[in-house]
Amino acid sequence: MTMGHDDKNQYSGKLYNYYCVLFRNSKTLRAYSDVHLLFCYHMMPDLNLMISHFHAYLWVILFLCLCLREQNDVYEWARDHRVHHKYSETDADPHNATRGFFFAHIGWLLVRKHPDVIEKGKKLELADLRADKVVMFQRRHYKLSVLILCFLVPTLVPWYFWGESLAVAYFVPGLLRYAVVLNATWLVNSAAHIWGNRPYDKTINPRENPMVAFSAIGEGFHNYHHTFPFDYATSEFGWKFNITTAFIDLMCFLGLAKDCKKVSKELIMARIQRTGDGSDKSG
Ligand SMILES: [Zn+2]
Ligand SMILES: [Zn+2]
Repeated sequence: MTMGHDDKNQYSGKLYNYYCVLFRNSKTLRAYSDVHLLFCYHMMPDLNLMISHFHAYLWVILFLCLCLREQNDVYEWARDHRVHHKYSETDADPHNATRGFFFAHIGWLLVRKHPDVIEKGKKLELADLRADKVVMFQRRHYKLSVLILCFLVPTLVPWYFWGESLAVAYFVPGLLRYAVVLNATWLVNSAAHIWGNRPYDKTINPRENPMVAFSAIGEGFHNYHHTFPFDYATSEFGWKFNITTAFIDLMCFLGLAKDCKKVSKELIMARIQRTGDGSDKSG
């Protein structure tokens, strides 16, 4: 590591400011996302920072998919995500990967938040989330929406439509699906912050991890994502291991989303030359 925490904060702060500028310039519909994790969270929180226009239909579809995943409500998810980017790998990062794999993966959900996370989280700009009726509706009715969409629907649909036993329907499409999807998502916070190359910025810990990209349908290009957090594709390689980007492109094609933000090839190359670890040349 060549940067101290203060440098890192300053660095992340700059990225975040860029984020906010983009956000203020976006026109709206405040539909969300973090585009990355399709059908759920990486299609939700903070996507307004990456894609300027969402159609209301798409937003509602994403909202329902998101309830199916149950990874905290959008408001809380987006707040944690923003603080993760702004204060990446410091005590103010909710899943600070410098505290080890287990903490970054699941441990952070088992203990109280570090006071810095709460303090810095309170200072974040979250007015866009509070102004979004769908987000606040979900926050108000979060437990009920999880009960219905994350557990009841996946249990009752196989039981009713193709005669699955209630026990199998509950344990397999209900609990097992939930556990697998949760762990695939958590690998983004753990494995993709620990193992992999850093072709875009060797001074930060997030890595390019093809295994996580595969398991989290496009979210494993994490060195790229932390270097260019406003890029909707979260990768320079388009649809490669990135169903999420393909999905967003399809939504754009159908007119349900538009004005996706993308980093230019020239800027990527310049950044690789300036701060990359040289791994782009191998293979
Ligand atoms: Zn992110
Ligand atoms: Zn990260």
